[in-house]
Amino acid sequence: MHFVDAKGILSAKNGMNIYRGCTHGCIYCDSRSSCYQMKHPFEDIEVKRNAPELLEIALRRKRSKCMIGTGAMCDPYMHCEKELGLTGQCLKIISRYGFGLAIQTKSDMILRDLDLLKCIHEESKCVVQMTLTTYNESLCKILEPNVCTTKRRYEVLKIMQKHTIPTVVWFSPVLPFINDTEENLRGILNYCFDAGVKGILCFGIGTTMRDGDREYFYAALDRHFPGLKQKYIKRYGYAYECFSDRSGELMKLFHSECEAHGVMHDVEQIFRYMHEYEQKDGQLCLF
Ligand code: SF4
Repeated sequence: MHFVDAKGILSAKNGMNIYRGCTHGCIYCDSRSSCYQMKHPFEDIEVKRNAPELLEIALRRKRSKCMIGTGAMCDPYMHCEKELGLTGQCLKIISRYGFGLAIQTKSDMILRDLDLLKCIHEESKCVVQMTLTTYNESLCKILEPNVCTTKRRYEVLKIMQKHTIPTVVWFSPVLPFINDTEENLRGILNYCFDAGVKGILCFGIGTTMRDGDREYFYAALDRHFPGLKQKYIKRYGYAYECFSDRSGELMKLFHSECEAHGVMHDVEQIFRYMHEYEQKDGQLCLF
């Protein structure tokens, strides 16, 4: 990893990325795409060491409170967070200033900050988002090799449920010819329903591929699924959106199951929910 002094930390939509790059090793990672113009190897994490100071200045200047988002681009709980604790420090600042939080991760390291998440949710709203793509545990270890598996992420969701922290699951991406099956969909949905998630984001049964991401993905296919790269090339060429041939039928099932279980499944509705700031009467926690 290497350190930089960033000039700013919040995007126009109040999202923040403390780290650039990721060590979780997901074979389909879109953040590797060349269009993001990372000038360093993806695993050589760029650490914005002044992120907490910048965040504090930004929040102090804000005229009204809002939700702060993190994790959309790179995981806020990748390995270096254990040693650096920058995500934890930023959460303390968000809590201290009474802002809301929508945080996305695949890692159970988020449990380290459970008390902070609870505090934020007492004062405002804290939404924890976890990505679940693959019900099969052995397959998960291949697709997302350096982070806890789906079963553990489900346990994290259950812990959030126990502490009444709302959760949203990203069921995305789903890889054609690999996990685009009804069995996988039902397995993930059952985890979600059992953990009482508020919403499930699914943009269609498929994945996206761009330069940078595609090469890494194809190399992984060659290692783990011999012959599949050729099938992808034949079926999708250089397309950005690569939908499964079963997307239509599986999406129908997805929507009807979510509807039957009272779980939000409309993408816009879920994003609206995650952006809506809520003010509660809870006491400000002293961290
Ligand atoms: S956790 Fe997210 S950012 Fe990290 S490798 Fe996986 S997909 Fe990429």
